[in-house]
Amino acid sequence: MSLADIRDRRSQMSEAQEIVMSQQADNIKPSYPLFLDDEYKDMLARKRDGFEEKHPQDKIDEVFQWTTSEEYKELNFKREALTINPAKACQPLGAVLCTLGFQNAMPYVHGSQGCVAYFRSYFNRHFREPISCVSDSMTEDAAVFGGQQNMKDGLINCKSTYKPEIIAVSTTCMAEVIGDDLNAFINNTKKEGIIPDDFPVPYAHTPSFVGSHVTGWDNMFEGFAKYFTLNAMEDKVVGSNHKVNIVPGFETYLGNYRVIKRMLKEMDVGFSMLSDPEEVLDTPADGKFRMYSGGTTQEEMRDAPNAYTTVLLQPWHLEKTRKFVTGTWKHEVPKLNIPMGLDWTDEFLMKISEITGQPIPESLTKERGRLVDMMTDSHTWLHGKRFAVWGDPDFVLGVVKFLLEVGAEPVHILCNNGNKRWKKVVDALLETSPYGANSTVYVGKDLWHMRSLVFTDKPDFMIGNSYGKFIQRDTLHKGKEFEVPLIRIGFPIFDRHHLHRQTTMGYEGAMYMLTTIVNAILDRLDDETRGMQATDYNHDLVR
Ligand code: SF4
Repeated sequence: MSLADIRDRRSQMSEAQEIVMSQQADNIKPSYPLFLDDEYKDMLARKRDGFEEKHPQDKIDEVFQWTTSEEYKELNFKREALTINPAKACQPLGAVLCTLGFQNAMPYVHGSQGCVAYFRSYFNRHFREPISCVSDSMTEDAAVFGGQQNMKDGLINCKSTYKPEIIAVSTTCMAEVIGDDLNAFINNTKKEGIIPDDFPVPYAHTPSFVGSHVTGWDNMFEGFAKYFTLNAMEDKVVGSNHKVNIVPGFETYLGNYRVIKRMLKEMDVGFSMLSDPEEVLDTPADGKFRMYSGGTTQEEMRDAPNAYTTVLLQPWHLEKTRKFVTGTWKHEVPKLNIPMGLDWTDEFLMKISEITGQPIPESLTKERGRLVDMMTDSHTWLHGKRFAVWGDPDFVLGVVKFLLEVGAEPVHILCNNGNKRWKKVVDALLETSPYGANSTVYVGKDLWHMRSLVFTDKPDFMIGNSYGKFIQRDTLHKGKEFEVPLIRIGFPIFDRHHLHRQTTMGYEGAMYMLTTIVNAILDRLDDETRGMQATDYNHDLVR
């Protein structure tokens, strides 16, 4: 840029600064509609023309159209060295959620403070709750000399400031890249008497360059299981506490903790929910801040090997947990799928009944009947509708199963953190139904791949997290007839309120999903047929 250009831009800038903006202290407007005011439109146009070195609009339009083409899709699917909008998060995020499910437990992340700010804000935006989590804030010196001193300072500060009864340590990329050894660091801290020897500090290495948030959950749960039971197995007898352990995995629908507990209570089955954050992530506004609330007790965790068995609600991402539970607790972990939809909720309840000898009560049979009634009422609207679905492996599997049950077609199925074995299982499931005949399963792909799929083979709807809204926006930009609406079921959901309190598991969860999906279809139909004397062909009051 020449000196003259710079001078010219400076003068444009000072001209822009002289404009009196219309934002007023007694009438504060948010960016929308504020930026529709003329002076803001003008300012944004100057910024674009003067500073952004924008390409000509026709070139932008041309490239946009190209990115929606079959040719671009093929290139996009050849992409290897880059992930765009990955549809997964990193390991320590899962470790933090797992820890929040234990009573008076503080998640502690050994590594960079910025990572922890991200975990807190990620959960905070989804759950709309304050999220307690500390970091030992490693900086350049720790990156060179190792983070032992950070751990010593961090553990004692955390313990004395926040008074937890457990501190659960996970790691960020930085600590993993330099190879910090958590076991040695924690033991050294205890040996020096900085924190008492018997103070519980379970830990998990959670390197983010492998796996995802669900792997981190699994790793941290294994850390808890090891800490509380590995060296205390002598007096344990399988079945002696007459309970069933439930391990939820990375679960962000608070209603799912509640519905599983409700169904087990209705069956009069004793159980331990191993990691249960539903209270701490849903505290009341009554003037009292609760850093800790509810959660699995240390006693429950110590007693867990005495249960009849351990049921994994999301078995696809609980591989380490399964290994530990079968190898150390000697539990025969039942082969179950995530209890989503009709069939797999049936299977879950029948298995619990078989394990405990408790019959399935009339209340649950009635609830099942209500779900079947709802499915019958709505299936005509769902039949043959085409969906794109993405998310974590167990969740996606559950959604696909449910869509098949209601006669809908899950055409594009994408799971960034699924593996080849998982894909085989989904393919086999699709083969069991005529509604799976046109489906394709993608593992290791991201939402930019999904964007190509949605443009080149248009589904009726997308089911996934908030990040899908940008795909919807792009499809609408191409033209109303290309728009693919997003149905928000999944994690994270940042741009709608309180959906995390809903339920996707059990009959109740299937009712919620059915209601959400069928009404999205009807909303869309209304949207397409509201033209007066043009598209209002029917008596549209009743659908
Ligand atoms: S990927 Fe690594 S650097 Fe990024 S937030 Fe996660 S732990 Fe931190």
